[in-house]
Amino acid sequence: CGIVGYIGTADAKEILLKGLEKLEYRGYDSAGIAVANNEGVHVFKEKGRIAALRDVVDGSTETSTGIGHTRWATHGVPSQQNAHPHQSSAGRFTIVHNGVIENYEQLRRELLPHVSMISETDTEIIVQLVELFAKEGLTTEQAFRKTLSRLEGSYAIALLDNDDKETIYVGKNKSPLLIGLADGVNVVASDAMAMLQVTNEFVEIEDQEVVIVSRDNVQIKKLNGDEVSRDSYIAEIDA
Ligand code: GLU
Repeated sequence: CGIVGYIGTADAKEILLKGLEKLEYRGYDSAGIAVANNEGVHVFKEKGRIAALRDVVDGSTETSTGIGHTRWATHGVPSQQNAHPHQSSAGRFTIVHNGVIENYEQLRRELLPHVSMISETDTEIIVQLVELFAKEGLTTEQAFRKTLSRLEGSYAIALLDNDDKETIYVGKNKSPLLIGLADGVNVVASDAMAMLQVTNEFVEIEDQEVVIVSRDNVQIKKLNGDEVSRDSYIAEIDA
C-alpha cells in the first residue's frame, strides 16, 4: 500500500499514476486518485490493479494538483466503495490513508449522530472528523491537527480541501511518508522511489507532525501548531 501527492504545474494524473505503479511492490487490492481543478475535486477509484484505475481516469480532466493511494484493506472488504480516496459527507474534504486507526469504533460512535458513513473503512472517520471540526469554525489546518490528535494507531495521510485547492495537508504516525521538493513543485510519497520522476530532494516527516504543502512552500508543524524546521537531503538512488 502507498500514498502519492503532487502539487505543481504538470499533468498531475499521469505523475500520480506513475508514482502508484512504483509503489505496486508494496502490495495492494485497490487504487485511486483525487485531482483538483477549478470545477472541484474529482475522485477516480477502482478495485484491482492500477491498470484498471487507468481505464476509469478521465484523461480530459485538467489538473496540476492531486493525491493517490494503493489500498491494502484492513477495515472493510476490497471494493470500489471502500477504495480510497474517501470524501466527507458535505464533500468538502478528500482523503487518502495508509495504516490502521485503533480507536475507530469509539470515534465512529461519536460521529454517527452527525454524519452518515458511506464506506466500511476506518479511514472515513478521519475525513468526517475534519469536516465536523471545520463546520465548528476551525480552519482546515486546525481541524486537521485536532483530528490527528484524536487518532490512535498508525497513519500516513494526504488531505485535499475543496475550498482551497492550492494546498495538500499531510500527516504521519508510524507509517512511512516523505515530502519531495522541486522548483515550483512539491510532492508527497510513501517511498522516494515513487517521486524520483519529479525530484531527488526530500524532507522527512516525524511521527505526529503535519505538513502544509503548496506549490512554493512546505511548512512542518507539530500537532499543537508549533513550527518545526528540518533540512532536506538528496536521495542517492537510481529511478
Ligand atoms: N485501514 C485503511 C483501510 O482499510 C487503510 C488501509 C491501507 O493501509 O491501505 O482502508
